[in-house]
Amino acid sequence: MSDPLPLLSVIVPVKDEEDAIAPFVARVGAVLDGLRDAQGGSIGWEILFIDDGSTDRTMAAILTAHDADPRIGALSLSRNFGKEAALSAGLDNARGAAVIPIDVDMQDPPEVIGAMLDKWRDGHEVVYGVRRNRMTDSLPKRLTADLYYRAHNWLSMDKIPEHAGDFRLLDRKVVEVIKRMPERNRFMKGLFAWSGFRQTAVEYDRAERAVGTTKFNYWKLWQLAVDGITSASTAPLRVWSYLGAIIAVVALVYAVFIGLRTIIYGADVAGYPSLMVAILFMGGVQLLSLGILGEYVGRILVETKKRPIYIIRQRIGVADPEETAGH
Ligand code: UDP
Ligand code: MG
Repeated sequence: MSDPLPLLSVIVPVKDEEDAIAPFVARVGAVLDGLRDAQGGSIGWEILFIDDGSTDRTMAAILTAHDADPRIGALSLSRNFGKEAALSAGLDNARGAAVIPIDVDMQDPPEVIGAMLDKWRDGHEVVYGVRRNRMTDSLPKRLTADLYYRAHNWLSMDKIPEHAGDFRLLDRKVVEVIKRMPERNRFMKGLFAWSGFRQTAVEYDRAERAVGTTKFNYWKLWQLAVDGITSASTAPLRVWSYLGAIIAVVALVYAVFIGLRTIIYGADVAGYPSLMVAILFMGGVQLLSLGILGEYVGRILVETKKRPIYIIRQRIGVADPEETAGH
């Protein structure tokens, strides 16, 4: 990829998607070629794949696409770092004045990019895509997604827009802010929400996955959800002091009641069930709050190690921004 700098960078994390590369390039390339600038001329673009430790022939498919069109480049990561890390690699290396992360499976229709571009030109710095319906996702996935957005936005100060995926247009200003965020825990939707700026939405219908199968199972989604909430909110930590205080007050009142009853009616040995209940309940609450503490402490450990978020093994048609920065 040579000068001048492209207007649009499309960044695409891929993990084992050998069959999806060629159709993606054909469809998205056509959409990008069809975009027009204010004078009616064509616009400069690049597609940047981030190979997230694929074990199939994904890289070969990308190389073929790169040979046919040098505007298509790739970063190959040294192993599977996860989609959020792959997106970070893409943001760090994209050169466009606007950057668009999108999935390779074309569940998010690339034709929407035109509408995003229009809103960007109107002065919006973030244009996120909102799925008008998620009928193509399974019912349990829709329900859990719904529950997650509610829980996240109830607990956290930085509201993430509901049913907005990673498909969005980001102005260069926003990209630079995200790049400077030092944290290892890259819950992208949370970072975008935190960064502020003038945000707006475009709606679209979500399609079926074009080829291949989903790379996310419920365990991975659960981990993403835990990452998202623990990175955006400390409410789960603080709730325990309140719960503890309430339980302590109730226990105190109960102690006074028992004391008075013993004075008035004398002692009795009954009360074994209530004792067991109280002990088990308190034990459960304590283990739960310890576990939540552990989630946060574990994340502090990961952050303090300051390891890189991703490691690049190979660059195809993408210059290293460190080297081209002029030192
Ligand atoms: N992906 C990735 N690394 C991973 C898992 C997924 O880069 O560890 C990519 C995947 O290739 C795809 C995108 O992330 O381009 C979204 O994945 P998928 O479509 O499987 O997720 P879903 O749409 O089912 O949530
Ligand atoms: Mg998908």
